[in-house]
Amino acid sequence: MRIDVLTLFPEMFQGPLDTSIVGRARAAGIVDIHLWNIRDFAHDRHRQVDDYPFGGGAGMVMKPEPVFKAVRHVLGGETAPVILMSPQGEVFSHRLAEELSQEKHLVLVCGHYEGVDERIREALVTRQISIGDYVLTGGELPAMVVIDAVVRFLPGALGDAGAVHTDSFAQGLLEYPQYTRPREFEGMKVPEVLLSGNHQRIAQWRREQALRRTLLLRPDLLEGLELSEEDRQLLATIKEELEQADE
Ligand code: SAM
Repeated sequence: MRIDVLTLFPEMFQGPLDTSIVGRARAAGIVDIHLWNIRDFAHDRHRQVDDYPFGGGAGMVMKPEPVFKAVRHVLGGETAPVILMSPQGEVFSHRLAEELSQEKHLVLVCGHYEGVDERIREALVTRQISIGDYVLTGGELPAMVVIDAVVRFLPGALGDAGAVHTDSFAQGLLEYPQYTRPREFEGMKVPEVLLSGNHQRIAQWRREQALRRTLLLRPDLLEGLELSEEDRQLLATIKEELEQADE
């Protein structure tokens, strides 16, 4: 996969894109990430990338010309999703990360200041993604979030490829609790079942814990989720237990 990132602050990406899983995936040629400074596509005397908003108001707005030039340059006549990082976009999710990981090429555009000229939205970008209902100073951190989540889905990026399928959200639930050594820490013991070596019991315990956790922390995820008869029974038992504990 190739990812082109258009930004006014390419230096912000150093670190997150060079280390850990994303850094290793780049080194292994699993993902090819290119950072482009939008200012390099501003060809007026002052290399101006922003200007005052028509109609007045606070802050500066990113000008259309350099962004159009930069996107056209990286596309080189090809087509690919051109994604604007925007608090007004579709909220990013596990499902969307997986969907984007199927693409061969992504172009991510990072806004800054008060945002971008509306014509960039209207005529250049094919999709807008938000990483949540809050406003950040720029699209750089959102772009890094998107890249990290997408790269995890690329074949070979994770040491254990199965992890993406058991992580939270993969099957609509939060993941079960995880433990490692020591078996006992400050009086807190690892659940006995995890030490039993009985894979069937471990799988059942994990499913029950995933359902319990989702019910407690993110009940919205259970709405509309297709559950087996066994899951439904487990959930009913957990709900009863919780109601009894409340009384
Ligand atoms: N004035 C804009 C608005 O109210 O919609 C917000 C502009 S914000 C200060 C500057 C840039 O940061 C945006 O153009 C976008 O690229 C990025 N940004 C801010 N919050 C974001 C979020 N939650 N998700 C994705 N990008 C975000």
